[in-house]
Amino acid sequence: MKKRLIILLLPRKTIRNSMISLALIVLILFFTWPCNYLSVIQPKALNQVTVIIDPGHGGIDGGVSRGGLLEKDITLEVAKILKKMLENKGCDVKMTRETDTDVSHLIPGGPETRYRRDVHSRTKFVNESNGDLYVSIHVDSCDDPSIRGAIVFHSKNNEESLNLATIIQSHLNKVTVINPQAGEYFHQEVKEGDFHILNNAVIPGVLAEVGFITNANDRKLLATHSYRKKLAEAICNGIVDFLCNIPAH
Ligand SMILES: [Zn+2]
Repeated sequence: MKKRLIILLLPRKTIRNSMISLALIVLILFFTWPCNYLSVIQPKALNQVTVIIDPGHGGIDGGVSRGGLLEKDITLEVAKILKKMLENKGCDVKMTRETDTDVSHLIPGGPETRYRRDVHSRTKFVNESNGDLYVSIHVDSCDDPSIRGAIVFHSKNNEESLNLATIIQSHLNKVTVINPQAGEYFHQEVKEGDFHILNNAVIPGVLAEVGFITNANDRKLLATHSYRKKLAEAICNGIVDFLCNIPAH
């Protein structure tokens, strides 16, 4: 009886010891592995990641506007600040445009209208840049002037895009949901987007509308360099958290 018991116990002990060893190895790896190796998109360190930034509109296409404030200028400045911030963290950054121009020239023989050539060119740029992820930056508008805040759009049925959008949205909310006035409504949730870039890009990405130019308070903030810097910082923090697999908080 005693002999039989020892035979039964021995393999269990061996299995238990093996499991403890395995758990220790996993724990050691977890605490010593660079955070980026936990990324869902690329097993790379930040200095091996390429981020594509797409500032919306440009040149002849001002985007939405109010009182002389143009979407194309806001998106370009936020993008340029974001580029510097990401580069300081070691990322390689490419931009669809770095000056006040649209990008329709990238597909001269493309679709018939300038607008469509521009939209298709941005997707082409994203798909041919060997990037790991992209962020398209825009400013929103709507008929209801009481609506404020940011909306980060993700692509359909893409878990990585949804994850990136959720994280960036949570960081943007900390910046955009401020000084509520009576009757104002703040967007704070991500949405599924039906945009050419979201529908056709081959890498994870989002389209971030960083505020409403049709709301007086958002407009006042969007006009300032300091607020654009805060928006860029929020997007930067979202990208880094995504790459380090840190959930939205
Ligand atoms: Zn736009």
